[in-house]
Amino acid sequence: MKRKKITIIGSGFSALSAACYLAKSGHEVLVFEKNKTIGGRARQLKKDGFTFDMGPSWYWMPDVFERFFADFGKKTSDYYELIKLSPAYRVYFGVNEFIAIADNLDEIVSTFETIEKGSGKILREFMSEAQSNYDIAIKDLVYRPGVSPLELVTVETTKKIGQFFSNISRDVRRKFKDERLIQILEFPVLFLGAKPSDTPSFYSFMNYADFGLGTWHPKTGMFDVVRAMESLARELGVQFFVNSNIEKIIVENKTAKAIVINGERIESDLVLSGADYHHTETLLDAEHRMYSEQYWESRVFAPSSLLFYVGFNKKIENISHHALFFDTDFNQHAKDIYDEPKWPAEPLFYANFPSLTDKTAAPEGMESGFFLVPLAPGINDSEELRELYFDKIIDRFEKLTQQSIKENIIFKESFCKNDFVEQYNSYKGNAYGMANTLLQTAFLRPKLKSKKVRNLYFTGQLTVPGPGVPPALISGKLVSDLIDKQFLKQ
Ligand SMILES: Cc1cc2nc3c(=O)[nH]c(=O)nc-3n(C[C@H](O)[C@H](O)[C@H](O)COP(=O)(O)OP(=O)(O)OC[C@H]3O[C@@H](n4cnc5c(N)ncnc54)[C@H](O)[C@@H]3O)c2cc1C
Repeated sequence: MKRKKITIIGSGFSALSAACYLAKSGHEVLVFEKNKTIGGRARQLKKDGFTFDMGPSWYWMPDVFERFFADFGKKTSDYYELIKLSPAYRVYFGVNEFIAIADNLDEIVSTFETIEKGSGKILREFMSEAQSNYDIAIKDLVYRPGVSPLELVTVETTKKIGQFFSNISRDVRRKFKDERLIQILEFPVLFLGAKPSDTPSFYSFMNYADFGLGTWHPKTGMFDVVRAMESLARELGVQFFVNSNIEKIIVENKTAKAIVINGERIESDLVLSGADYHHTETLLDAEHRMYSEQYWESRVFAPSSLLFYVGFNKKIENISHHALFFDTDFNQHAKDIYDEPKWPAEPLFYANFPSLTDKTAAPEGMESGFFLVPLAPGINDSEELRELYFDKIIDRFEKLTQQSIKENIIFKESFCKNDFVEQYNSYKGNAYGMANTLLQTAFLRPKLKSKKVRNLYFTGQLTVPGPGVPPALISGKLVSDLIDKQFLKQ
């Protein structure tokens, strides 16, 4: 195959993954990132001795990361150390009332049994089905490029067809009665960006990822993975350019020919965008776009988020590395995100404290904390609203964990919808792409390959397979395979 010059827009996980595969195939690969550091939504914030992962914090599906590095004859341990979190996480339902999820299924089964008699056995059956779905979905289906509906038709999926037409919420409610257990089992599919009642039952593979495979933490945070992929990419010859905002994709004779940065034209044999799909299309003249504004408007997007990165001048008591605060009405908050978008009156929120696991994340005797409130994409964002919600969640946190922390804040930065738009060119400020609903799965998602412009490809969380870090790694592989296939034909 002849060596081609491939320019990649963005440096999120999907772009990094594609860069590695394309360089391995022998191409000249150049990655251009608009921000001053690489990693996209997984960038790192370091200030005043505190370190925060700015986006993803749950390292799930370790097998997907291993598979990625194995494609290059490497292991994750060649680049970073993984710690299995124990407990995996806590879920708070009231004042000092929480359920801790252990790092193994046997203990989780016992926990369920103590809360709802008979639920342990049901959980084992549920997990066995979830594991079987994982084997079908994550080991096989998600590695198909979303080109044809037939990709989803296999002997195994045909046997499970009913699971595509029921939903997680209904399934879980049929099997379990205790509202707390139901919420814990509905939680993993929130990573896919839609309500559990809009997520097909087949996606219970996320429950296997949770209870079956466990929650891991790269020793000094998720950014370890970005560093690892950057090292691998450089070893393979990829070149990186930061502070490089792509202003335009030049198309001539219906073929992508170049990208433009600060008015400078950079010739390309092929352009691959790992930036948000909607934004990438705005870099093209209207006649070259595949999807209209109405199309994007009609899609279900994953939530946006209000985030706080907070440094405390003391150790925080009564917490775990990951903690979910589900003490308010889950369904009402979901309605405020998806059905009638507005700031939620009583938000659920999530917090993590990386310095509990990684001593380098905060100065000695101190703690770094990350707080997240999911919000409707496109919502109105202002400093006043951010502060109002910060007070709301910190007051709740203090009450639920029985301690005062407000006076101990010595560092705080927020990040919300306007930052997602401004810093990542994110459509409506979505935090993690386009949701995986039945009608937005596989071949029904925006395509990896442009149908209107030759030599223009897309990767990332708005295309296949969908939101999340493991899917982003897979997306980079899928698009590189398609590109290789095209060049082999030429
Ligand atoms: C707050 C938050 C929490 C999350 N939690 C988890 C989690 O715990 N676990 C998990 O697995 N996933 C999680 N996710 C999702 C996961 O982080 C994403 O799905 C994944 O990182 C997306 O990668 P990507 O390559 O598709 O896009 P991005 O990371 O968004 O990369 C796109 C890149 O393109 C750049 N770009 C945009 N426009 C241009 C331009 N014109 N020129 C040059 N560059 C441009 C952007 O700056 C960005 O760097 C979370 C996401 C967020 C935001």
